[in-house]
Amino acid sequence: MRFEYAPAPESRDVVDIKPSYGLFINGDFVDGSGTAFKTINPASEEMLAEVAAADEADVDRAVTAARKAFESWAALPGRERAKYLFRIARIIQERARELAVLESLDNGKPIRESRDVDLPLVAAHFFYYAGWADKLGHAGFGADPRPLGVAGQVIPWNFPLLMLAWKIAPALACGNTVVLKPAETTPLTALAFAEICVQAGLPPGVVNILTGAGATGAALVNHPGVDKVAFTGSTEVGRLIARSVAGTGKKVTLELGGKAANIVFDDAALDQAVEGIVNGIFFNQGHVCCAGSRLLVQESIAEELLDALKRRLGTLRLGDPLDKNTDIGAINSAEQLARIRSLTESGELEGAERWTASCPLPDKGFWFPPTLFTGVAQSHRIAREEIFGPVLSVLTFRTPAEAVEKANNTPYGLSAGVWTEKGSRILWMADKLRAGVVWANTFNRFDPASPFGGYKESGHGREGGRHGLEAYLDV
Ligand code: NAD
Repeated sequence: MRFEYAPAPESRDVVDIKPSYGLFINGDFVDGSGTAFKTINPASEEMLAEVAAADEADVDRAVTAARKAFESWAALPGRERAKYLFRIARIIQERARELAVLESLDNGKPIRESRDVDLPLVAAHFFYYAGWADKLGHAGFGADPRPLGVAGQVIPWNFPLLMLAWKIAPALACGNTVVLKPAETTPLTALAFAEICVQAGLPPGVVNILTGAGATGAALVNHPGVDKVAFTGSTEVGRLIARSVAGTGKKVTLELGGKAANIVFDDAALDQAVEGIVNGIFFNQGHVCCAGSRLLVQESIAEELLDALKRRLGTLRLGDPLDKNTDIGAINSAEQLARIRSLTESGELEGAERWTASCPLPDKGFWFPPTLFTGVAQSHRIAREEIFGPVLSVLTFRTPAEAVEKANNTPYGLSAGVWTEKGSRILWMADKLRAGVVWANTFNRFDPASPFGGYKESGHGREGGRHGLEAYLDV
């Protein structure tokens, strides 16, 4: 049965988007030297704002400001730094509705996700690291661990504000100052965060936000005044960065792509597993590094599970990201949509069978319906490459050993999911799976206290938890 829902749009009036934005350097918004660019709403292709692009001179100005601010910021007692972080966390909570709407407008993600997942996690991350700021001597890195200096941070577009929180909160708690570059398609919440820094009375230069594309990111990570590089994005760019900073003495963390296996055994609670599969790959349109993009299902229940999954996918609502009933929002950009299309075409060409939920797509904007492929071989591109879209590749297995072998047969190693009633099997699988996070009977669960990061081509270093402090301390 399909329910009809009346539209329930969230009001856009809570956000005040300016026609144009400058760079946030040393506590002020200033003009950029590069050619300004536009950021659009991917659900309507409407222009939201014009944003400055930072060139090398701007990067130099921001790094200089961060260097100057570092001396006094690092000298502050941890409890004083904590006050600023707590203040930022509270302002984020107060402005959560506005920030959620802004995120959905600029990114295309459903308001339900930005409001109920992204924003609560952003605030929780600042609260969590505020708590560490005066306890660093008890974190297991020596009695008086020192900060590194200026952190150059580059983030992607899939969780713009959440990735900013993962980067900035631990850096500041440890006494570093930062220059952060958001992705070119989603700069608006980072610029709103700059306003929050002013509102919180954060000393000038402690946080600097530079907008721009890949060239700005490259100028930032290559700047000699940067002591620490933190990058989240594609494995391809991660490799470039690793090469360019090798031998410079800069400390680096790389949070890269993934191709996670979500493994369902025949004793799993099937309805729960179906919800977990949907959450694993269709949450945030599949624009999730740890998405469960490969479903490994035990052969004996494959047919039953797939029937139930297709039924469930038929009920997902795709459309206006600001509608509170929407499950699947817009694809973030025309480039990403083209990539998803090209990889799904390769799936068909290589012989996998495509099934797409029947749902009307809006005329304007970038959209892709929930899709799954059966008959997928491990050699297919759709089983090996990160699609970063609402597309699930389904493979089967007979024994736990075969499940482990198939799950680990990937260049990535960020996350995995296991669905079974047997606790002993969960522990056995978790031990064998080469993935930074293994979820059992759940998927895509995040908590600031829990470290997150990958093996192999998914990168190195951990963000979150006590482990996340290490990346920002001289240990
Ligand atoms: P991307 O690598 O294209 O871009 C990421 C950021 O790097 C952007 O801000 C971009 O402007 C910048 N950039 C591009 N070229 C650069 C260069 N040469 N030097 C420095 N910076 C440069 O990735 P994307 O398409 O924005 O994001 C999607 C990718 O991010 C996916 O592969 C996804 O798996 C990954 N991701 C990983 C995690 C994680 O925690 N492991 C989290 C979220 C996203």
